[in-house]
Amino acid sequence: MRTALIHSDEWRRFDYGPEHPLRMERLGLTWRLMEAYGLTALPGARVLTPEPALLEAVARFHGRDYIEILRAVSAGDWVPHAARYGLGPGDNPIFPGLWEAAQLVAGGSLLAAQLVAEDQADRAFHFAGGLHHAMPDRASGFCYVNDAVLAIMRLRERGWRVAYVDIDAHHGDGVQFAFYRDPSVLTISTHERGDRLFPGTGFVVEMGEGDGVGFSVNLPLQPFTDDAVYQPAFEAVVPPLLCAFKPDVMVLQLGIDSHRTDPLTHLCLTVQGFTTVVKRLLQLVPRVVALGGGGYDLPNVARAWTAAWAAMNEVTLAETLPAECQKEMARFGLKVPSLCDPPAELPEDTRRWAEEYARRQVAAIRENIFPLHRL
Ligand SMILES: [Zn+2]
Repeated sequence: MRTALIHSDEWRRFDYGPEHPLRMERLGLTWRLMEAYGLTALPGARVLTPEPALLEAVARFHGRDYIEILRAVSAGDWVPHAARYGLGPGDNPIFPGLWEAAQLVAGGSLLAAQLVAEDQADRAFHFAGGLHHAMPDRASGFCYVNDAVLAIMRLRERGWRVAYVDIDAHHGDGVQFAFYRDPSVLTISTHERGDRLFPGTGFVVEMGEGDGVGFSVNLPLQPFTDDAVYQPAFEAVVPPLLCAFKPDVMVLQLGIDSHRTDPLTHLCLTVQGFTTVVKRLLQLVPRVVALGGGGYDLPNVARAWTAAWAAMNEVTLAETLPAECQKEMARFGLKVPSLCDPPAELPEDTRRWAEEYARRQVAAIRENIFPLHRL
């Protein structure tokens, strides 16, 4: 197994602002936990620093006008109507170096895709990536440039069939939009239901258009969905579709805002539940480009992506966090210095309510989408 980890120290330069939930500290925290576990110096695993993506590379998905606006606001120029491009106070703030940050995230995911496309790695992980909400001409949901779309486009250049699996708590709307009519890219997103959470989309009826009908798959879930409800629903939908589609490569968006302590969402997964899903996905498709995504309770981000990277390298980790990281993780709010979380204790009727909703969504997918794949 040849793997590659993409990481840059440059992220420390950027800041969405003191009130913003997307904290750059999460990337350094993740790196330090990986390092403490010995995962940044594994035999067979390369560690690489990305170069910023060139404007031309970003322009393969994003409009020139939008890119010029990003460059202008990033340099501190006043741009009238920046709000028309999703920019301004709130989710997608204007901060110095915004364009350089966008180039860096795109460059990291393009490097991961290139390593796999050129057969230099079987699995590559760029955990600063996975900014799945950005649209061609609009920033959205903390995302300015859609690195996941750019990575998929890079893999498509090889003529490969690409499966995109997104387990972030939010719908992967930007990626779905990009490939909505394309039957060579299967997008699957599991997320909290769109009538309860941003971005408001991701229902089963969003199945693709034209030749792409059946190649956009959405599994929306009820608030309070925990591992016990999530895993059977995932199992009923994702492995059969991947087996039928037979992708050459899989792009994973590994947002961990699905965790039960995440401050922005309402799903109830644990780190070990997340890791079980990642391991299952790795069994199904050998070539993988993995990206990060959401996650706003910082110790969860570090623990989940460290566990995911260990899984990609088939390394088993000690459950107790390395001593040198415990103090820092406690400072960010982690109560027990463990990779695993205590099991969720949900009232039985809450779990049944979540289970019933998941059961209906799975049935709708199996009825409407499975036959299109001869399942
Ligand atoms: Zn998210």
